[in-house]
Parts: sequence; C-alpha cells; structure tokens
Amino acid sequence: MKQIILATTNKGKLNDVKEIFNDLDIEILWFLDFENHPEVEENGNTFSDNAIIKARAAFEKYKIPSIGDDSGLEAFQLNGEPGIYSARYAGENADDEKNNLLLIKKLSKLPEPHPGRFVCAAAYYDGKEIKTAIGEIRGNIIKTPRGKNGFGYDPLFIPDGYNITTAEMPHEEKNKISHRYNAFKQLRILL
Ligand code: IMP
Repeated sequence: MKQIILATTNKGKLNDVKEIFNDLDIEILWFLDFENHPEVEENGNTFSDNAIIKARAAFEKYKIPSIGDDSGLEAFQLNGEPGIYSARYAGENADDEKNNLLLIKKLSKLPEPHPGRFVCAAAYYDGKEIKTAIGEIRGNIIKTPRGKNGFGYDPLFIPDGYNITTAEMPHEEKNKISHRYNAFKQLRILL
C-alpha cells in the first residue's frame, strides 16, 4: 500500500485527512509515527510556501511522499491579518484566547460587518514534483465569542449562509464545508 506522511503533530488534522482519503488505497502516517521528527520553521510568506516547507522537510527526512498544510484566518478590513501569523498573532507564546482578543480589539475600531475567510493550503512532495491546492471558506467575524467546539478563531467565525459560528457547529458539519476539507479534496484529485 502507498504511504504518505502528513507533516503534522496535530491529531485533529490527521483525522480530518484520513477521513477525506479513506476510500483511497493510501496509508496516512504522521510525525508521531516517527522518532525525532523535524521541527519545521514556518518562515514562508504565504500559506502555500509554508505548506511546501513542511512537505519538503518531511520528504527530505524520511524519503516517503509527504503532505504539508498551513492555514489561518484573514480579516479583509485588516488587509488579511492575522493570515500566516494566525497561530502567533498576539506573540510567540500566545494562545487562542489572546489571539482572539487582539483580533476583536483591532476590529472594534472598524464598521460592521467584518468579512473574512479561513484559508488552507495543502502541498504534496515526492522528491520529484510539488503539487499544491488552496481551500477557503468565507464568512463574517463577530466580536463576541460563541460556541465551544473547534479551536482557534472558530468562536468568532460565522460562515456565509449560516447564523452559527464554526464553534457552534458539530465537528462533522464543519468538516464538510471547511477550508481544510476544500484544500485536501482538491489535492486528492491531483494525486
Ligand atoms: P496551522 O495551520 O496549524 O499553522 O494553524 C494556524 C492557525 O490558524 C491556528 O492556530 C488557528 O489559530 C487558525 N486556524 C486554522 N484553521 C482554523 C479553523 O478551522 N478554525 C479556527 N482557527 C483556525
């Protein structure tokens, strides 16, 4: 069976990707299947750059075809912030709560609504070619957090066509419309 490494230590991402690829004859491995997995520095300028950096780091170390991904939230009134800095918007040791508070503070100076999107880039590398795909989900950012599901900016994000945040949606429902799902579905077609 063909093996692919998902360059992540995030169990949630692993499960999502396994679900999307479940009817393909591919075994999905992840960094925790290996000892001394690479610590990848996300120093690219775009989501796609960072996804490629992760896929390359995994392939170079293990010589097994690899997939990397990178994702985040863009607020259009803030020129795409927090963007690629989503995980560390409020600083290197920031947590979800601090990041959300900073975003709320910046948006509170601006008129409503606050349109934005979640973006995910996924990249595949097998030592010969790189394949990339981008997925997004558009919606509005609110300033009063709602919901306990999900992670990151989910309590602040209402997808277009909904009146609940992605933190108020059951996991399976978010997974069918998410930026990550859209990116990996496209990558799947390329593989
Ligand atoms: P990474 O792709 O693991 O680097 O994640 C980047 C950051 O983007 C996360 O720490 C979250 O803050 C944010 N993010 C990415 N995807 C989502 C999502 O589905 N919901 C909420 N926040 C997200």
